[in-house]
Amino acid sequence: MSNLNSKRVPVATQKLSDSINNFDEVILGYDEKNAILEASRCLNCKNAPCVKGCPINIDIPSFINFIKNKDYENSYKTLMLKTNFPSICGRVCQHEKQCEGKCVRGIKGEAISIGNLERFVGDMFIKSNKSIAKPQLISKKVAIIGSGPSGISCASNLAKNGINVTIFEALPYFGGVLYYGIPEFRLPNRIINEEINKLKLLNVNLESNKKLGADFSANSLKKEFDAIYISSGADEQKYLGIAEKSIKNVMTAKEFLSAVNVDKKTFNAKNIVIIGGGNVAMDAARVAVRLKANSTIIYRRTKEEMPANKDELNAALLEGVNFKELVNPIRILSKDNIIYGLECIKMELGELDSSNRRSPKPIINSEFKIDCDLFILAIGSKVEEELFINENIKINKEKILVDENYKTSIDGVFAGGDAIRGPSTVVLAMKDGINAAKIIKDYIFEK
Ligand code: SF4
Repeated sequence: MSNLNSKRVPVATQKLSDSINNFDEVILGYDEKNAILEASRCLNCKNAPCVKGCPINIDIPSFINFIKNKDYENSYKTLMLKTNFPSICGRVCQHEKQCEGKCVRGIKGEAISIGNLERFVGDMFIKSNKSIAKPQLISKKVAIIGSGPSGISCASNLAKNGINVTIFEALPYFGGVLYYGIPEFRLPNRIINEEINKLKLLNVNLESNKKLGADFSANSLKKEFDAIYISSGADEQKYLGIAEKSIKNVMTAKEFLSAVNVDKKTFNAKNIVIIGGGNVAMDAARVAVRLKANSTIIYRRTKEEMPANKDELNAALLEGVNFKELVNPIRILSKDNIIYGLECIKMELGELDSSNRRSPKPIINSEFKIDCDLFILAIGSKVEEELFINENIKINKEKILVDENYKTSIDGVFAGGDAIRGPSTVVLAMKDGINAAKIIKDYIFEK
């Protein structure tokens, strides 16, 4: 039976008064009854615009229709034809800007909650403890450098074809930005581990603490493997250039999020200030709330120009993050090399720039000071150029240079994800991994 309600079936969440005091997942997801009720709002559109809005073109009406009929196995199989990690995608994809942004139910009401339905099906599979059929291994071997969303997507798609895949991860845990960069209240580490375990079932070899440049080179791997896929991300953080590197208690968002998320470190700062307007800035600010600090985001444009998801921005607002818009720091105030504040300047918006956003300009004589004892930089990152200099892999504008087939300047070496795009979304990194796997497969069989 169809559910014609224009509003979504609400998804269970932690109470705000609880969630700001712990690092547990804020959104608890649909139970079976509510998932079916929400799935019943889907019109099963013939020319489903939601599919066109999905970067990996998941057959959304079909997987939702299977939920309606309680056929979770086929719903999962439908998802798995395109995404290998529905429990991850369901939680962290930018649904509002992609599939849900195109949903026809969104025209006169609220779009179908596609992300929460995807997550429901992915989590059902995890809970079911069902195994995955091991593919028959063939003699072809591919090395993947980096275990972030692009690397694991490429690995999964190659491994399903029986290709012998080894992932080399520089850090102790697998998942890259998913593990080190996204707080557990959005994506629990246990979910990442469950999804990574699926790779083991597909015969993928996982090697941690193996860093390109230190433990091996791409050229040395070429002797052992038929092809290499570089998905090492864009991990070199950008700085403002106001001498912040030399001052204590100034950190990059990557350092901060990884310290809290993985090392479970706590910080005793009272006033944590985050500069940036993307999802990473929102994550850092929401972590700061949970550390019981005054959490403030400063941004040189306004909220409207922030690249963060609306959901993430709203969650940060709801949890009490302060937003100081049209503000830019110009000096770090420190004593004995320890930060105690920021000197900032007010900004105004001028003409449109190359990013099609109005360009911020400082307002003369508008300087002011704010208290800050922990300053987090969330202003973007770029590829670690140093890693590739000795490899003769060409870099252009802070990214690895590839052709339309993900080929780098070295034969047999491919690259994708943030390493070729700069910081981007999880789903685009996955899309690269999926597409590159097809190309790599053809390449190694034609060799
Ligand atoms: Fe269902 Fe919306 Fe997609 Fe139509 S556009 S098939 S209603 S999810």
